Amino acid sequence: MSDVVGCAVGVDIGGTKTVAALVDAGGGIIGRAVEATPGSDGPDAILATVLRLVRAVADGTRPRGVGVGSAGVIDHRSGVVLSATSVLRDWAGTPVRERLSDMTGLPVRVVNDVHAHALGEAWAGAAAGAESVLMIAVGTGVGASFVRSGEVWFGAHDVAGHLGHIPAAAAEGRPCVCGRTGHLEAVAAGPAICALYAERTGRTVTDVQEIVRCAAAGSAEAAGVLAEGGRALGAAVGGAINLLDPEVVVVGGGVVGAGELWWAPMESALRDQLLPTTAGIRVVRSKLGSDAALAGAARLVLDADRKMKERH
Ligand SMILES: [Zn+2]
Repeated sequence: MSDVVGCAVGVDIGGTKTVAALVDAGGGIIGRAVEATPGSDGPDAILATVLRLVRAVADGTRPRGVGVGSAGVIDHRSGVVLSATSVLRDWAGTPVRERLSDMTGLPVRVVNDVHAHALGEAWAGAAAGAESVLMIAVGTGVGASFVRSGEVWFGAHDVAGHLGHIPAAAAEGRPCVCGRTGHLEAVAAGPAICALYAERTGRTVTDVQEIVRCAAAGSAEAAGVLAEGGRALGAAVGGAINLLDPEVVVVGGGVVGAGELWWAPMESALRDQLLPTTAGIRVVRSKLGSDAALAGAARLVLDADRKMKERH
């Protein structure tokens, strides 16, 4: 049996697919495997999928453990899912850490997927070398994560980073998935931008990329809704920068794929909010893409392994 020195398995459990990768001590991805997430089949099926993927990528190696980034609110100490989207049926309440540890015989850590993404970018991606990082993920939802000295700020109730659920002026009166109204996610997430476009044009779209194509073909409404979504996000992130004063801000997620029509108004609205001393802050695109969550999840177990050795 070969021993890839200091490697760990990173797993990213998303609403549609689950990916596992063997990650080396420098954050490099050695090999990966992917399957559709059997979300509607419940926790047993999801965990069985994770186990297959872990075995596939760890075959013949001795990983230090398994780090998991999952959709939902996760108790990062116990690894129990506190709440989750209905796409993952009965996922809330699942003791993921305990069950995967029993199944694999390895140490397991579990965090929310945006936190895993942030750890990956802070370790080996767009924010490598920065002391503090604010990661923003904007896709189906709007999430954030604050990493300082390589450690995620989870908050007292594991809810830190829910940027999508702060009030946003542009979202006033619009219902949010959380049940309240006027939250950022109701105007800045991908589905919200699509809904706004449908309201304005009567054309149903399911993907922000369709709106980008319409904008490229000269649609002022299409360019307009991309800019509005970008500005709403940027204003909120600017406020968050004033609160946290990170060294660098990394923005990732599917909506960033909309390109300059979205990015330029986003960054402009962000900088409009900044206090003078933070005016030069670096705001950059995610570098590792979906690999960031895999690297970040693996980093969690490598860190835990190192700390345990230091104590002994
Ligand atoms: Zn909300």
